[in-house]
Amino acid sequence: MKFDRVRNFIGGKYSDGEGLPQLEVVSPLDGSVLTQVPLSDAAVLDSAVVAAAEALVDWSQQTIKDRAQVAYRYRTLLEEHAEELAELVHLENGKTLDEGRAEVVKAIEVTEFACSLPQLVAGEVLEVSPGVECRVERCPVGIVASITPFNFPCMVPHWTIPIAVTLGNALLLKPSEKVPLTAQKTAELLHAAGLPAGVFQVIHGDRKIVEAMCDHPEIAAVAFVGSTPAARAVYARASGTGKRALGMGGAKNHLVVLPDADVELTAANVAESVTGCAGQRCMAASALVAVGSVDPVIERLCQMAREIVPGKNLGAVISAEARDRIVGFIDEAEQSGARVLVDGRSATVEGCENGFYVGPTIIDDVTPEMRIASEEVFGPVLAILRASDLDEAVAIENASPFGNAAAIYTRDGGAARRFAALASAGMVGVNIGVPVPREPFGFGGWNDSRFGVGNITGEESIEFLTQSRKITSRWPDG
Ligand code: NAD
Repeated sequence: MKFDRVRNFIGGKYSDGEGLPQLEVVSPLDGSVLTQVPLSDAAVLDSAVVAAAEALVDWSQQTIKDRAQVAYRYRTLLEEHAEELAELVHLENGKTLDEGRAEVVKAIEVTEFACSLPQLVAGEVLEVSPGVECRVERCPVGIVASITPFNFPCMVPHWTIPIAVTLGNALLLKPSEKVPLTAQKTAELLHAAGLPAGVFQVIHGDRKIVEAMCDHPEIAAVAFVGSTPAARAVYARASGTGKRALGMGGAKNHLVVLPDADVELTAANVAESVTGCAGQRCMAASALVAVGSVDPVIERLCQMAREIVPGKNLGAVISAEARDRIVGFIDEAEQSGARVLVDGRSATVEGCENGFYVGPTIIDDVTPEMRIASEEVFGPVLAILRASDLDEAVAIENASPFGNAAAIYTRDGGAARRFAALASAGMVGVNIGVPVPREPFGFGGWNDSRFGVGNITGEESIEFLTQSRKITSRWPDG
């Protein structure tokens, strides 16, 4: 399938981006070129900032109940266009169509949270001394830049878009240059929902435009989602110029399996966590810590993994480079003495020979010194480490520099509670391998998985995307 060249969306219109360098957008499904995306420069950013500032004059002064009406209309449009959005996600990201559909469901959920914001930001008022009243108001911060990764072209941009604009901000989205089509469609739908020109804009590009956003004096806040080195750099650069910044980074998620775990539930759940979205989820299982003898779980997990077929119920990875990096991790682990129980290195899909596929891969006897035990692989690969008891398993999990998710599989409530209390991760699962909090609970990790304070969604996002004004008034008796 071929699409017209992707365009920036600025001031309520798609703009041609004459003269900007263009990058090819390749479908991971079959390696075909889908379209081209512009790499925007500082002049494009300046024009978007001017349009955002103009739009804010009116938008920030509307009541939040009026702004929420746009979120209601947008939610309906997301439902009506769900299939089209899912198809775009499938084509440009390479995940399965069902996984694309699930992204749209999550985007709708966050939009519904945005619809509820008038109830959540009603404010506080108290008579603090006779005749004197203190009142707190939530005000928008202004122009917010949101930079997003390739792995969730629909869901991750929606972590910020509906909440930021409903709270009265103007949002500049810089989607991943690998998946620009879903973002382009998002702009069209927000416009159709009645969002005024300049309140939501899309600027395509790469690292350079992100750095320009961090430096731009009129951008008030930067919300970044991507790999840890980039999240760390963006957080430092944006906060160094006095902006609010939040940088969500990469992950290495540990699943601990105790000997009393339910074999069927655990194996199915771990298999889904490792292979869902081809392992390209910041919440994916990457390391399984087997406590004592859990061989029945591992055997069943291997059986299930063999039934997961690339091109059918397993999508592609994003690029040839990603596939080679993932295979390199497996090769290196094997050469260091690990045992490959299920091997996805030679996966191909008939009719899509130029696509980028890695099959489910399960590797046993991984030791903590191996690179695969500590680094983010971002593919459908599970490294199994062995521990003699829960304390040793916790120590392995705690040694990871990341801290997005961790999970335990057990029937023992006490052990689960102890693990939840000791894991060094922002999101913990008990018999759940992808413990993504649902709205209104916020999404956010710890350690090198998050730079800054608070969660990117849920109630803590209100703190990030607003500033409080305290008004103290005295009126003499009439
Ligand atoms: P990436 O860091 O390469 O790119 C993310 C975004 O930042 C893109 O828009 C890209 O153009 C831009 N970018 C890349 N390098 C940059 C740099 N040095 N400075 C400024 N901007 C830069 O990430 P990716 O490969 O697109 O996405 C996968 C990564 O994102 C994985 O590490 C995954 O764990 C992580 N991720 C984290 C979360 C989370 O909430 N913690 C969610 C989704 C994905």
